[in-house]
Amino acid sequence: MSEVKRYHVTDSGLVEGQALGRISVVLASDYDAAVTHIRDLELLAGQEMKSTELATNAGLRVCLERDALQALLTAADERADVLEGLLLAAMPSKVCKCRECGGTSLTWYSHIKSNSAVAEGRLRTNEMSCVFFLGCDDCSETLAWVDADQIAAYLPISKP
Ligand SMILES: [Zn+2]
Repeated sequence: MSEVKRYHVTDSGLVEGQALGRISVVLASDYDAAVTHIRDLELLAGQEMKSTELATNAGLRVCLERDALQALLTAADERADVLEGLLLAAMPSKVCKCRECGGTSLTWYSHIKSNSAVAEGRLRTNEMSCVFFLGCDDCSETLAWVDADQIAAYLPISKP
């Protein structure tokens, strides 16, 4: 926008510039252009505020989602730590190596075992249970075992 020119009134008419004690005037076209320019600036400022608000809301949502995911991850880590602790606590003693071959490559496995003397193939599901056992990867020795119900007692209950 071009600069608004000011005039002052003299006996001979309008003279460009201001004079002390004289009334200053501006052209109506300059005044209208200045008002339009101010409105444009106000609209632009409003749009920038909306853009800033949208960006802030999006950033806030991302932060909230990140925090929620971090909380889920922390809860999952804590459950894993609890289960690992239970498995270690259930062992008769801390087993770090195989008592048969001295191997240190040990792995937990699950197994279904029979709780009765009924021949396999005639068993019912209530006559079987699940156990976890720690086996030696080198010689297959069973070093410790834990009943699955002992572990299940510590699993979280999911809510619908
Ligand atoms: Zn072994």
